[in-house]
Amino acid sequence: MKSVVLESAGNVKIEDIEELGDIPEGYVKIKVQSVGICGSDVHYYLHGKIGDFVLRKPMILGHETGGILESGSASIKRGSVVAVEPGIPCGKCIYCRTGRYNLCPDMRFFATPPVDGSMVEHIVHPEEFVYSADGLTPDEASLAEPLSVGVYAARMAHLGPDSDVLINGSGPVGILTAFAAESYGANVTVVDINPERIEYAGECGFSSCINNKVSGQFDTVFECSGYGHEYSIHRTARGGDLFLIGMGEEEGINPLMASIGGINIHGIFRYVNTYPEAIRIIKRYRNRLAPFLRKHIDVDELPGYLADGEYEKYLKTIVRI
Ligand SMILES: [Zn+2]
Ligand SMILES: [Zn+2]
Repeated sequence: MKSVVLESAGNVKIEDIEELGDIPEGYVKIKVQSVGICGSDVHYYLHGKIGDFVLRKPMILGHETGGILESGSASIKRGSVVAVEPGIPCGKCIYCRTGRYNLCPDMRFFATPPVDGSMVEHIVHPEEFVYSADGLTPDEASLAEPLSVGVYAARMAHLGPDSDVLINGSGPVGILTAFAAESYGANVTVVDINPERIEYAGECGFSSCINNKVSGQFDTVFECSGYGHEYSIHRTARGGDLFLIGMGEEEGINPLMASIGGINIHGIFRYVNTYPEAIRIIKRYRNRLAPFLRKHIDVDELPGYLADGEYEKYLKTIVRI
């Protein structure tokens, strides 16, 4: 069966790999249809590593997965559209046992070395991490993964109708976090330094502007750009909450304003039990999510598409397997 294998930095190939054997007890078989390209896939393609995760042997890319259930499930009908949660935690450590499996040190997560991802025709996966997304297309179902990050952040922020939220970063994670925050009733503003990117937030129906045009401070700020930490500290009201979601790094941050302002800074990594909620949010906002569903390519086009850097021109690219 066809798969997308990252051999080494800058070298990705379509490879024919062996079909799957028997399905283990508790696992289901899925025909993968749609896999979104994530910033992390691009980062592994360009650099061969993210932090301590280093590509040491060839790895299948992809973790934002929508597909069709083929067999093995007691609760989901064959032929249903499903969304696949890409991380399998150990279930035994103190984090798993206290409901924070996103922090499990033994997590096996798609397309995080050495674990293979989902850009392959079939996968088998534990049934508990496969969710019915009937009524959605597989492309839409693939958005449940990046949206989950926003759902988890919105939940940790205890948002409600009286929340005024600023989101710094108008990329996929920033805008999907905006949808999650709005679903909790929050009043949301999205900012970015890039005039082209900020248009996506406007297209998705959010009040949006270039960073320096926003005034006032916000009780809750979600830093989704990865490069605006100090800016985000300055935009957080006294005693407010700043959530670090973007995976970049900023050098030479001056944290003085955070300590003087009594700002609570929270790190957000992945998510916990978010898929059913993410799927409901996609159903509710499906028309406004159009900019995420605009660009799809056939899997055979992917090596050239990555080499040309074409993905930079779109908010999200979905690979059809
Ligand atoms: Zn991702
Ligand atoms: Zn664990």
